Amino acid sequence: MTDDATVPRLEAKSGITKASLPDPFFACLHRALSAYRGCAHGCAYCDGRAERYYVDGVFDRDVAARFNVAEAIGRDADRGFASLEEGAIGVGSGVTDVYQPLEARLALTRASLERMADTGQGIVILTKNTLILRDFDVLSRFRNALVMVTVTTLDTRLAALLEPGASSPAERLAVVESARKAGFRSGVMAMPLCPGLSAERESADRLFAACRDSGAQFIQPGGLTLRPGRQKEHFMTALSGYRPDLLPLYGDLFSENRASGMPKTGNRETEKMTRWFRVLDESGMPTKIPHSIYREHLSLPDAVFVLLCHMADLYGTRGVSTARLRASLDRYAEWLAAERTALRRKRIRPCPTDPFPLTRELTGRLVSLASEDSARREKPAVSGPDISRAKSLDDILDNERLSLFLGDVILNGAVFDYPTLSLSVSP
Ligand code: SF4
Repeated sequence: MTDDATVPRLEAKSGITKASLPDPFFACLHRALSAYRGCAHGCAYCDGRAERYYVDGVFDRDVAARFNVAEAIGRDADRGFASLEEGAIGVGSGVTDVYQPLEARLALTRASLERMADTGQGIVILTKNTLILRDFDVLSRFRNALVMVTVTTLDTRLAALLEPGASSPAERLAVVESARKAGFRSGVMAMPLCPGLSAERESADRLFAACRDSGAQFIQPGGLTLRPGRQKEHFMTALSGYRPDLLPLYGDLFSENRASGMPKTGNRETEKMTRWFRVLDESGMPTKIPHSIYREHLSLPDAVFVLLCHMADLYGTRGVSTARLRASLDRYAEWLAAERTALRRKRIRPCPTDPFPLTRELTGRLVSLASEDSARREKPAVSGPDISRAKSLDDILDNERLSLFLGDVILNGAVFDYPTLSLSVSP
């Protein structure tokens, strides 16, 4: 590894976050701090430019590095942050790419991975750069690895505008192919699909077909968000030099200047995005990290949480009312976070025969709650379910149909297939 006095330095105070709930986007419980801040890939749509992330200087030029990141990660790993509970470690974020060009010289991400590889955890990693191929040897030391690659268009001219510093779309799809050949799980984040550019039928159809050919196990499409301020200004400037005819469309879509960056509701572009979900569903391609993948690297209680989050999104995209499901999700999240906090206070230590003691305890509780359901249903109904004294899954979810469904997942190992929204029990 080469230190470099010309690179702005940041201090990593902690290396692995200690979350009480898993991240449904990455399907991981733990998150590792990125080695960089700012990103030389310089994507025109990058959220990292938004004021809310407080990135100083020119976002794609003044990239800062945390030279001590591997040390901080190692310290947290040794303290048990990632060893008491089973749950993959997520690497990557929407505001920096851990494999941006500087990594070729500094190898800080590689050093971080090396410190995490022996925690016994899985890894979930996201990038737009072929540099990740260099580290397949380290990734293969994790219990399992999910390599996610962002590809938003096959059009190289458009990619040069939207993602000027990243590897070409074809190179990124080759990473997916290589990851599958190496025995990793792999999928594509096809986001953002930009109106009038990459979100149009011909462009999206070609992209999805190429992702499928590369061996992608899922394709997650997503729309563009533009937060008012630096992010929106940068994108509109780039667009004006490439397709000025689209400026009125974008001006209208983002005329409400929402803090979240979301376009105005009820616009035709959102309807188009719904169509992409339908096209992928009909072709049997999952539009999120599939349950069959993350159940292998998350604990059962955390996998149930991610499943509920994904179900709420999947049914919502299909126009089904999800108010009841979301209420149950909130109740489950409350139960899971409270149980985890209580178990962490006990300061249980791992040992060679019991490497994830907290996970074992938490899973045991969930299994006994699910087992209790059928017996509880034969008794008179309880009034006003109380999560703090829950004796069955019904008490937590307050939704008998859902608890029956989850009983199959928890007790029988059933897997939920996203394209068909159906359960199947593994042979
Ligand atoms: S690769 Fe990600 S973090 Fe880097 S500029 Fe592009 S969107 Fe931003």
